Amino acid sequence: LKEVGAGTAPENEIGEAGSADRVNRLRPEAQVVGLAILMAGATVALHFVTPDKDVATRSASWWPFVVAMVLFGLFDYFVFHFQFRREGIAFSLSEIPTALALVFLAPLPGLLARLPLTIIVLIAVRRNAAHKVVFNMALLLFELAATIALFRWLLERLGPGDSAIVLAVALALFLVSPLTSVLISMAISRFEGFSWRRIGDELRATWWMYMVNSVLAAMTISLALIEPSLALLAILPTIGIWFVLHTYGELGQELRDLDAVHGFAGRVGVTLDLLEISDAAVSETIKLLHAESVALVRFGEVGPPTIHTSGRIPIKLPSDEFDSNWSGLLESHRAVLVDRSELVRRGLVVAQAARSAIVALVDDETGPLAALIVVEQDVLAARFGPSDVARVQNLSEQLAASLRKGLLHERLEHEARHDALTGLPSRTPFEFEVGKIVRKPPDLVSCVLMLDLDRFKEVNDTLGHHAGDDLLIEFADRMTSLLQGDDVLARLAGDEFAILCCRDSVAKVDEFAKLCVETGGKPVVLDGLEIVVTVSCGVAEIIELDDDAVQSMRRADIAMYNAKWQRTGVEFYRDEIDRRTPARLSILGDLRTSIENDELGVVYQPKLDLATGQIIGVEALVRWDHSVRGVVPPSEFVRVAEDTGLIKELTDIVMVNGIKMLRRFSDAGLSLGLAVNLSTHDLFDVRLPERIRGHLESNDVAPELLTLEITESSLFVDAPRTRATIDDLHAVGLRMTIDDFGTGYSSLSYLRRLPVNELKIDQSFVYGMLTDPQDEVIVRSTVDLGHNLDLLVVAEGVESLAVLERLRDIGCDVAQGYYVSQPLGADALLDWLHKAASAHVAESPISWVGSVS
Ligand code: C2E
Ligand code: MG
Ligand code: MG
Repeated sequence: LKEVGAGTAPENEIGEAGSADRVNRLRPEAQVVGLAILMAGATVALHFVTPDKDVATRSASWWPFVVAMVLFGLFDYFVFHFQFRREGIAFSLSEIPTALALVFLAPLPGLLARLPLTIIVLIAVRRNAAHKVVFNMALLLFELAATIALFRWLLERLGPGDSAIVLAVALALFLVSPLTSVLISMAISRFEGFSWRRIGDELRATWWMYMVNSVLAAMTISLALIEPSLALLAILPTIGIWFVLHTYGELGQELRDLDAVHGFAGRVGVTLDLLEISDAAVSETIKLLHAESVALVRFGEVGPPTIHTSGRIPIKLPSDEFDSNWSGLLESHRAVLVDRSELVRRGLVVAQAARSAIVALVDDETGPLAALIVVEQDVLAARFGPSDVARVQNLSEQLAASLRKGLLHERLEHEARHDALTGLPSRTPFEFEVGKIVRKPPDLVSCVLMLDLDRFKEVNDTLGHHAGDDLLIEFADRMTSLLQGDDVLARLAGDEFAILCCRDSVAKVDEFAKLCVETGGKPVVLDGLEIVVTVSCGVAEIIELDDDAVQSMRRADIAMYNAKWQRTGVEFYRDEIDRRTPARLSILGDLRTSIENDELGVVYQPKLDLATGQIIGVEALVRWDHSVRGVVPPSEFVRVAEDTGLIKELTDIVMVNGIKMLRRFSDAGLSLGLAVNLSTHDLFDVRLPERIRGHLESNDVAPELLTLEITESSLFVDAPRTRATIDDLHAVGLRMTIDDFGTGYSSLSYLRRLPVNELKIDQSFVYGMLTDPQDEVIVRSTVDLGHNLDLLVVAEGVESLAVLERLRDIGCDVAQGYYVSQPLGADALLDWLHKAASAHVAESPISWVGSVS
C-alpha cells in the first residue's frame, strides 16, 4: 500500500537545515539504493526462515502463478492516490493477488509472480528513475516475503483447516502492511528528520484501509478455497468498489487543488506589499507542490529582476523576460515542464541536484510580470506530472492578479511621495526628513533652502508648458548635481524647490546656497533659444525651538520672498523680514481700498530725442503712497493687481490721468507724446480699445500721441487672443512699444508681424553697457535690429552722461532715465519742461528743450 515514489508525498517538512545535512552526507540516490540492498538482504533472510518453503499451502495447477502475476501488474497499474486528512495515500488492491500467492503458491514462485509486470509498470508507466525502481521492488518483495513468513508461522499455530487459512491470510495482511509502512517511514526519516507523531498520524489515517483490504483478500480466499472460479464473486465487486473510490479520489483531488489555489490566492492577496506578496507566493508554492525549491523572478521596468526564492535553486534563473537561455519557456499562458536533459542542453544547471522544473510566465494583459520556477521535489517523491504543470499554471494566474495590484499600489505610493516630472521627493517626504532633524538635531548647522525660479510663469506662458517642464527638469538635474552627503532635494510645487542640508558652519550653507543660485541661473537652451532664468533662494536654519518641520520651511519661504523682492539671489531668514510679511499679504486689501478712494497717483518720466536733444514725450508710471505703508514700489503691487484682476482699474486710472496730461500738454503748447504701460491682462480685455478711444475723444486728444508699452513677455501669452486686442488698439490709431526688450523670449519673426512702432531696450542692459562689453553688444544689436525693422529704439535706465553719449553714438533714437529726469508729478513735470525749454545748458552737448510749437 505504501509504495515510495508513487504517493503524493506526505506534507513535506524538510527544512533548509535538513536538506543541507543531506548534501553533506551520502548522495540521496546512493542512500536509497543502500536501503534497497538492506531490504533485499532481509527478504532473502525471511525466505530462509519461512517454514515448509518448498510447497504451496494448497496445491493447484499453473493458474495461481499467472493470475497472481497478472493481478499484481493490473493493480499496480491502477493504483491511485488520494488525500485522507493530511496524508497522501496510495490505494491499491495488491492484497488480493498477495492472498492468492500466500495460499496457492510456494514462497519462491509467489515472490517471482510479484516481479515481472510490476517492474514494467514502474519503469514504463510511472517513469521511475533506476534507483527508485530498485528501491520500490526491494520494498515490495520484502513486504511480500514478510507476509509469507508471518502467514506460514500463523498457520503452524492455527492448524491446517480452511478457516485457519482464511484467518491467517487476514491477519498476515493486516499486520505486515502497516509494519512495513512504519519501517519505511523510519528509513525515510533518515533524510527528513524522525517524528513519531508523523508515523502515528500516518497509521491513524490508513489503518482502516489496511483492514478493508485484508478482509476483501480473506473473502476472496474463502471463495477460492471452495472453488477457484468462485474468487471472481469477490474480485468483481471489489473492482467495482475500486472504481467508486477512484472516482471519488479524483474528484477529491480536484477539489483539493481548487481549495489549494483558492487558499494561495487568499494568502498571496492579503497584502499589497510586493515583497510580501512575492515571499508568500514562493512559500505557498513550495508547499502546494511539495517542491524542493521555488523561485519567483520579478521583472522590473529597468534594471535586473528581483528574485525571491525558497530552498536552494540549482539552476540559473532568467536575467529578464527575454533571456535567450529561456526562449520558448517564458511564454504567455502556458506553464511548461522542463526535464533535466533540457535544463542541461540550455546550460541552466548550476548544481548537480538540478532535476526537472516547471516554468510559468506570470503575466496579464499589460505584459510579463514575473517568472515562477518550481524545481522538482525530493528524490523519494514522485516526479512532476501534467497535473502539477496545470497547478503551477493556475497559481501563476492567481499570482498575476496579486502582483498587478501590488505594482499599482507601489506606483501610487511612489507617485504620492514623488513628483512625476522630476522624480524628486514631494513635500510630504521632505517634511518628514526635516522633521527627523527637528526631533534629533545633529551637531551640524541644519538648514532648509527654498529655491524659486524667478518669472517661471513667463517661460510657461511664452514658450509653452513643455518648455517650462524642460526647464524644471534641467533645474532639478543641476541641483541634484550639487547635493552633498545626506542633502535632500525636493520639488514642493510648480517652480518651488527645497533642499535640506547640514554643514559645518553657516558660512558653508551660505556658500552652498549661492552656488545653487548661480548654477540654477546659468543659461538654459529651450526650444533652441538660450534663456536665463534667475533663481531666488531663502535659507532658514532649523533651530531647537522648532516644534515641527513646517516652521523652518515657512521661515525659508519668507526669506525666499525677500530674496525675490530684493533681487539679491540668496537671503537668510531674519526676524525683521517676518514682521513685514503679513503686511505684504494684506497689500491686496489695501490696494483695493486705495483704488476705490482714488489714492493712486501717476508720475511722468521724460524721454529725450538723442538726435535733436529735445524732449519728445513722457512715460506715465503709477505711484502708490499709502498712509501707513509709505511709498509702495510698482514692483510690489502691480503683480498683485495683475494676479487679482485689479489691474483693469489700475490701468484705467493711469490711462485717464495720462490722457488728461496730454490735454494739458496741448493746452500748454507742448507737442509731447505719452506712454502708458499695459499688462498682460489688459490685453485680454476686449473692451480696452473702445474705452481708450472714448477717453481720447472726450479729452479731444489725437490717438497717435498715446503710446502703449507692452512687455515683451506678455505678447506671447495666448498669442491669438492678445493679438486680436493689439490689432484693435492699432486700429484706434495708437502707437505701440515693446517694453523691457531683451528680457522676454520673443521670436523676431513674430515681432515683425506686430503693428509696433518702438523697441524699448531693457534698463538692465543699458546701465551696464559701459562696463560690460556684452551689454553693449546687446544694446548695439538691438538698435540695429530695431532700425532694420523700421522701429524707433528707446533706451531706458540712462543714469549718466557717458551712457547717454554712447547711446547717441551707437545711433539709439531716444533716452529715458534718471540722468534726463526722475519721474515727476504732473505739475512738477510741467515746471520742469518749461525750465528745460528756457534753460540753455552750455556745457552739455545736449540741450533738452521741450519742443515748443
Ligand atoms: P518700466 O515700464 O520699464 O518703467 C521704467 C522703470 O524704470 C520705472 O520704475 C522707472 O522709475 C525706472 N527708471 C527710470 N529711469 C531709471 C534709471 O535711470 N535707473 C533706474 N534704475 N531705473 C529707472 P517704476 O516706476 O518703479 O516701475 C517699474 C515697473 O512697474 C515698470 O517698468 C512697469 O513695468 C511697471 N509699471 C509702472 N507703472 C505701471 C503702470 O501704470 N501700469 C503697469 N501695467 N505697469 C506699471
Ligand atoms: Mg514701461
Ligand atoms: Mg522697462
